[in-house]
Amino acid sequence: MSMKKFLFTPGPLTTSRTVKEAMLEDMGSRDHEFMDAIKVIRTQLLTIGHVSKELGYESVIVQGSGTFGVESVISSVVKKEDKLLVIANGAYGERIIKMAKIHQLNLLELRFEEDEIISPSVTEEFIRSNPGITHIACIHSETTTGLFNPIEEIGAVCKAHGIIFIVDAMSSFGGVEIDIKKCNIDFLLSSSNKCIEGVPGFAFAICKKTELEKSKGNGRSLSLDLYDQWAGLEANGQFRFTPPTLSLMAFRQALRELDAEGGVKARELRYKTNKQLLDKGMEALGFQQYLKPEIQGHIISSFLYPSDPGFNFEQFYKKLNDRGCIIYPGKLSKTNAFRIGNIGQIFPEDITYLLNAIKQVIQEEGIKI
Ligand SMILES: *Cc1c(COP(=O)(O)O)cnc(C)c1O
Repeated sequence: MSMKKFLFTPGPLTTSRTVKEAMLEDMGSRDHEFMDAIKVIRTQLLTIGHVSKELGYESVIVQGSGTFGVESVISSVVKKEDKLLVIANGAYGERIIKMAKIHQLNLLELRFEEDEIISPSVTEEFIRSNPGITHIACIHSETTTGLFNPIEEIGAVCKAHGIIFIVDAMSSFGGVEIDIKKCNIDFLLSSSNKCIEGVPGFAFAICKKTELEKSKGNGRSLSLDLYDQWAGLEANGQFRFTPPTLSLMAFRQALRELDAEGGVKARELRYKTNKQLLDKGMEALGFQQYLKPEIQGHIISSFLYPSDPGFNFEQFYKKLNDRGCIIYPGKLSKTNAFRIGNIGQIFPEDITYLLNAIKQVIQEEGIKI
């Protein structure tokens, strides 16, 4: 058997053996056990977001990767006469802008630097000077760098102006406590292979029901029509098109394991512990972080390339890979950095193992930091 790999990435992530084992039995898409799993998953997703059907929220599962879920919401809920403001400070915000252009939405763009969080007051000024904005979309944990945007404050601005709020919380939901109602979020997105620690296969949207209902007949795509997908699930508990059956079975197991760990609070604490250990260890090795500490989240960390001209990222990556550690390249537009994820089935001893591997590789390569 090949060596066990640890994925220090933002997803897909390292998963538990028991999550993978939940995929060993073939499952028909109309099997009672499967239909029951869908029900349990849809309910539990609401619970994780501190909402419920009674509070007026619905969860919709969309086949595909996380981007499919974001595109499902963006292409379904913004009407022809609406005006969408996308606030971006990284590659994932830019991805939403690209989607909005492809679907030819009325689009406004507001950008912040990649090492800067979204300013709620600048956002508010922008809204005042650009009347008619009906929707705002932004990223919570901008995985490009690892910063956390202040969604509660941005949500308050949206509420004050009667604006629908769409949040891509792909890399944070399940690893950070998010109260969807308190943050005034109308549509929140995440996927199976991030902090809930399932395997890839689907995205999900947690939606304010009244807003979801307004999107009926507005979908710009057949397969990504959010309302129709929801209506299908509500009508007979089934997907309109082939569901990722085994990925859903793995996810049901991943949710049980999240509960067993102590829920989102306990998971958040484990990830934060990972990050603290990683930061301390990397600092001791001489590495510098890209972001100021006060705007960093605990999902993923960005480290600047060492100034030593002998540093070669490909070589660094390969040698860490040979030691079973998969790190993540950078995605910054102006700076060279690499990223290390703190999430998934990663525990403090795995971070220590990674730090030792990094130390060995820089010594072997003779890199001065
Ligand atoms: C992972 C991620 C996505 C989705 O990426 P996919 O490759 O489509 O799964 C979207 N937004 C953010 C912030 C992410 O971290």
